[in-house]
Amino acid sequence: MEQKRGLCYLLRLLSVLLALTVFLSAQGVLAPAGYATTKSELDALKAESAQLDKEKKALEQELKQIGKEKKDAQKRKGVLEQQIGTIEGEIKNIDRQINTYDTLIVEKETALQVNEAEEARLFDLFCQRVRYMEEEGQSNYWAVLFNAESFSDLLDRLVMMDEIMAYDNDVMDDLLTTRAQIQTDKTELESARSERQTAKTTRESSVKELEGKEKEVQGILSELSKDEAHTKKELKELEAMAKAMDDEITRKERELAEKEKQNPGSTTVSTESGYLWPLPSYKNLSSLYAGRIDPFTGKPATHTGIDVPAPKGTKVLAAKSGTVLTSAYNKGGYGNYVVVRHSSGNTTLYAHLSSRSVKEGDSVKQGQVVGLVGSTGRSTGNHLHYEIRVNNARIDPVTKYSGLTYKGKAI
Ligand SMILES: [Zn+2]
Repeated sequence: MEQKRGLCYLLRLLSVLLALTVFLSAQGVLAPAGYATTKSELDALKAESAQLDKEKKALEQELKQIGKEKKDAQKRKGVLEQQIGTIEGEIKNIDRQINTYDTLIVEKETALQVNEAEEARLFDLFCQRVRYMEEEGQSNYWAVLFNAESFSDLLDRLVMMDEIMAYDNDVMDDLLTTRAQIQTDKTELESARSERQTAKTTRESSVKELEGKEKEVQGILSELSKDEAHTKKELKELEAMAKAMDDEITRKERELAEKEKQNPGSTTVSTESGYLWPLPSYKNLSSLYAGRIDPFTGKPATHTGIDVPAPKGTKVLAAKSGTVLTSAYNKGGYGNYVVVRHSSGNTTLYAHLSSRSVKEGDSVKQGQVVGLVGSTGRSTGNHLHYEIRVNNARIDPVTKYSGLTYKGKAI
């Protein structure tokens, strides 16, 4: 009994030594197919992360420059907003990296379990073989041959021995391969775990950085809201911005008309007849559309859309189904803004968003979130700036809704 255990132990030692050599040659070859995909996904994410880092550094430089030129709160706010966008992109990227590591770790843990079970099975098989040979008095291959009773018996025994040895070698080979794979699995699991930890640490510092930048923007916003003279300038710039927007929409509509000519039906969007209010819980306006008489001042408003104050992060819903014509950031005027095309010449525009949830070309359903309320661009407080265009001409959005109020009064 002792002897058997001793032999098994010796074999285990031998196989471990051999496994080391096999390990070096078998690394990578035995990795499961899913691993390569996960790995290349991670590589792509890391490349994207490096690009974001570059952008962030360029913005940091721009910010320094502005600080040198003059103290321009609006400009600083614009760059900070862009930085916030980059950091948010980074955090999303890191989250995806962490998810990929999670998948990778589960894959490796499963592979390790399977291989460890296989190793146990093979080792058991190997010990069984050794025990069998001892019990049969064949602990030595040579003994089998010496016990031959005749020459033909010797030949028979040789053939049999050959088969037994080949079988034993196969079991041994499998055992070594499995051992090598287990070693690889363990190494990869370890590095995936430590890389995931690094990603988590990076995420924490990115979140801190983001909070810092948002605080800075908050500071600038309160600075700006004190500045009354700013409002006029703000409106003027928004007007210029709206004019540029009109041109852009017209240009894109023309492009789409061209596409429609070449491929009829390709740009058609089905649209509801009614307009959904983009902020269901917020129906009190703080600013009216151009030409409307302000009941408080008796003067007509000069404004390209309507303003609806709402807390930062409130979901902004698409008024109708359609296709996203523009999803961009403009630091001078609209900030983060989204334009949705509902049918030919009929568009809605959502501006000053803290973040955008759709990109150009996306199809959106009525009521789908296009972004979140914010105060990006030329804005001094969280609100939605909302515009409607019918046949490429801006109209007063209020005419499409009921139940709205202006500064608390029904309109
Ligand atoms: Zn506005």
